[in-house]
Amino acid sequence: MRKITEIIVHCSATREGKEFTVADIDRWHRERGWKGCGYHYVITLDGRVQQGRPEQIAGAHCSGRNAESLGICYIGGCDLVGKSKDTRTEAQRKSMVTLIRQLMQTHGISIENVRCHNEFSTKACPSFSVQKLHKEILEA
Ligand SMILES: [Zn+2]
Repeated sequence: MRKITEIIVHCSATREGKEFTVADIDRWHRERGWKGCGYHYVITLDGRVQQGRPEQIAGAHCSGRNAESLGICYIGGCDLVGKSKDTRTEAQRKSMVTLIRQLMQTHGISIENVRCHNEFSTKACPSFSVQKLHKEILEA
């Protein structure tokens, strides 16, 4: 069994209000030569949680940190002109917090190991700070 010690949150870097699914991301990532969707979970605009890669298979979402992490991606992250923005719908925000809390419990992951991609990359992804995310999780 793969050891899972960290959760890393992403956005799809797509424009506000435009819906995509795990099937779209799977296709985009295959086009990059990856073995399908690099994330373990995708959260669509309506708050549905879709399964990407099985948890036991390492993801392809955060350079250098894929071996022991789970990757979660919400659809959105850019405004209508393509600029970085927290575009999560209320349904997405709620689903994200619920999913993360469940995964923390299942894998015994503490809050400091719930991270945002922008902590490890110059990308703005997921278009909000880890402090904001932690606040949402702790207040839920
Ligand atoms: Zn990312």
